Amino acid sequence: MNSNKAEIKKSVFGSLPDGTTISKFNMKNSKGMEVDVISYGGIITRWTAPDKNGNFENVVIGFDSLQDYVNENPYFGAIIGRYCNRIANARFNLDGKTYELESNHGKNNLHGGEKGFDKINWEVSEEDVEDGVALKLKHLSKDGYGGFPGNLSTVVTYQLTENNELKVLYEATTDKKTIVNLTQHSYFNLSGDFSQSVLDHTLSINADTFLPVDSVLIPTGELRSVEDTPFDFRNPKKIGKSINAENSQLHKGTGYDHCWVLNSPDTFRIASRAVHPVSCRVLEVLTDEPGIQFYSGNFLDNTLPNPQGGNYKKRSGFCLETQHFPDSPNQDQFPSVVLNPDERYTSRTTFRFSVED
Ligand code: BGC
Repeated sequence: MNSNKAEIKKSVFGSLPDGTTISKFNMKNSKGMEVDVISYGGIITRWTAPDKNGNFENVVIGFDSLQDYVNENPYFGAIIGRYCNRIANARFNLDGKTYELESNHGKNNLHGGEKGFDKINWEVSEEDVEDGVALKLKHLSKDGYGGFPGNLSTVVTYQLTENNELKVLYEATTDKKTIVNLTQHSYFNLSGDFSQSVLDHTLSINADTFLPVDSVLIPTGELRSVEDTPFDFRNPKKIGKSINAENSQLHKGTGYDHCWVLNSPDTFRIASRAVHPVSCRVLEVLTDEPGIQFYSGNFLDNTLPNPQGGNYKKRSGFCLETQHFPDSPNQDQFPSVVLNPDERYTSRTTFRFSVED
């Protein structure tokens, strides 16, 4: 039964090979929505949402053991940093100095490198809020870590509200000029059944243009109109409708794996909306970021264990990653990702669940 009090319960999730204890925090609001967060990677391992009949089911891909996350995790549920998405040739210049990062995706840097924010043990504390419950996750990333300059002090706040929203606030400060781009990498399947693909979900994305990519998924620099392309999600459309269309961009991404340029820059607005037609679950993503990476789970390959049975298959989840554009440090025409010592990086994203009749 749902208790009618918002609360957080802490337990032990497991131990890392070096003995570090990893905690799990079960956040619950009075409506019955639950979000489980572990200190390792700030990973959301489970997130329940009600269907049209009020039945709560988990709607995010996850594992039930820490060992599975440590073995191989394509960023399921994790906080991504210091720089989410790709940096071409794992290298960028800042004030005439070249910084070399780890090439962990071909020759590019992906999601911060080998041991990004998805693999560190965050310091987690409970935070008092008026609406629902909240967790504060803190981490100090040392100067030079992964090749990035500056001691970066990062705080991510997860607030589960009484309105079935998870508000994510990212904050960071540095003592040396650096670059930052943080996101959340949950894979959603609003059916709650991960043996089903997400191709039947209806999606809309509030964007007139997207960023075409080259063969290694680095933006070419062009902002291309979505008009008359499979990338047009301005009106709600099934994810599967044109995912197999003859289109060189879909071919490069083996499906959707692109950043959309959101309309109404510099405002906090609805970026995307997904609906599962059978359960009628609706997910809205709001953000003040300029872009959103819609990734249709193309690389899930039936090797990683699904706690419901079997393995996660291609397209058993999709990601909506709010962010600045990929490879911005090397593309001057993109909005800046530079953070100076006298500034505070902030970025806000809300994941809001509801049902639609
Ligand atoms: C990237 C994909 C990648 C996935 C998991 C997404 O953010 O865009 O290319 O496969 O993360 O690593």
